[in-house]
Order: sequence, then structure tokens, then C-alpha cells
Amino acid sequence: MEVVTLASGSSGNCALIRAGSGLDRTTLVLDCGVALRTARDLALVLGVELGAVDGVLLSHHHSDHSAKVLAVAARARCPLWAHPQALTTHPSTSESERRRRKVDHRPFTSGQWFEAGSIRCLPVRLSHDAEPTHGFLFEADGVRAGFFTDLGTTDALPRELVEDLELLVLESNHDHGMLRDGRYPPHLKRRVGGDQGHLSNGQAAELLRDRCPPGLRALALAHLSERNNAPSLALEAAGQALRDAGRGELEPQVAPKRGILRLELAT
Ligand SMILES: [Zn+2]
Ligand SMILES: [Zn+2]
Repeated sequence: MEVVTLASGSSGNCALIRAGSGLDRTTLVLDCGVALRTARDLALVLGVELGAVDGVLLSHHHSDHSAKVLAVAARARCPLWAHPQALTTHPSTSESERRRRKVDHRPFTSGQWFEAGSIRCLPVRLSHDAEPTHGFLFEADGVRAGFFTDLGTTDALPRELVEDLELLVLESNHDHGMLRDGRYPPHLKRRVGGDQGHLSNGQAAELLRDRCPPGLRALALAHLSERNNAPSLALEAAGQALRDAGRGELEPQVAPKRGILRLELAT
């Protein structure tokens, strides 16, 4: 299985999940909140035709994730897997838009596995200020991966859920001190730092320190704030947590705002 981030952060998110081989090969797009051309050009670097993917998944309605999901699904003539409530808020994913673009919506339910081609997916409900927001577990090729961004607490990620992960993409949005002392207005500081906001470097580190999956082999830190974080701070916090957990050999990576980060695991 391969998880590739093409864009990450509040100015747009898009990732690819790939698994299988030959006729069983499945490529899914997880969220698309960047210009279609940007996503297409980045996917092409990997040899992936965005117009030929097998499915699109939506995590939540915020436009940095949802803006172009319908456009991708329409172009690829593939299904869009989304929680029904995640489609009703944003005009770009409304029922009339879906009908106009002839997109086949496949609803999913929180906590229930579904199959998208050769990839099994489990939507995990997260605490975030877009109801509902989901992260995902993915299973394919004998590997289990987790993808969790846009969450204010790690309560939805107990040990039982994460213990078998071999690959993890985890939000590390802001440095607590930079957010506190920075220029955001008070209401935005409260929103970002609150239980329905975004995960801080410290919260991501705490999860890794407490419940780092023993079989974890690939780790990406994602959805970094441009204003309230620096890649070096996110890497330092996660690196220290991994050393504390006795996993100092595992090197976390940062998902760039635009550009490719490829995590690949063979069975
Ligand atoms: Zn976001
Ligand atoms: Zn969001």
C-alpha cells in the first residue's frame, strides 16, 4: 500500500491511497481542496492520471478538503464516498451539483468498514468544527494505515484503534506557544486550539509517546499551520516523543503544503 500526500494544510488538502496490482489495482483520492490542475500535475509526477482514479473520499465539508472532490469524481466517472451530512453544507457538493455532474454518491457510516476497490476503509469520527468529520483506517495488501487530520483531541484514537497501524498520517497543526503569542484574533486562537479545532505538535507527540503502534514503519506529520508552526518544531516534538517511546529509529516526515510525500509499505 502507498499513501501519498499532494497538498496538506489550510490552503488545500489532497492525498492518494493506492494498493493492489494488475487488474486489482485501486487508486483513491482522499479530499481535494486544491485547484484541479495542481492535483492533476502532482498526480502525474507519480504516473497517476487523476481522470482514471477508482474513487474519491471526503473527510469533511471544509473547503480546504471538499472544494474539488465533485470535480475529480465527475472527471474520473468514479464514485464519491462521503457521509451524507458532509455534502449538504457546501454549495460545491450540493445534491443539484451532484446530479448535474452525474456523480455517484456512496454514503458511508461512521465506524463501519466499506470496500472501495481493493482497499477496505473505516471512517473514524473525529472531534472538529465541521459535523461530521472523519479520519480513516485503510487496509490493503496486508497492511493497515491511518489518516487523521482536522481533529481537536485524540480521544477518537484510542490504543485499540491505532495499535495495528504500520503507516500513519497524523495532524501536527500548530505549536502551542506560537499560536498563543501569534497574531490570530482571540476567537480564531480559541477555535484552532480548542477541542473541535486542530491537533497541536504537543498533542500529536503525546499520542506517539502514549500509544505509538509497535509495528509503525512510516509516519507523516500533516496539516501544518503556516503561521503557527514550523516543520522543524513539529519534527522535533514528534522525534522526542518517539525517542521517549523507545522508537527513536523511526523518522517522521512532514507533508509539504504543496508537493509529494510518498509513504510506501510492502507486506
Ligand atoms: Zn483542514
Ligand atoms: Zn477542517
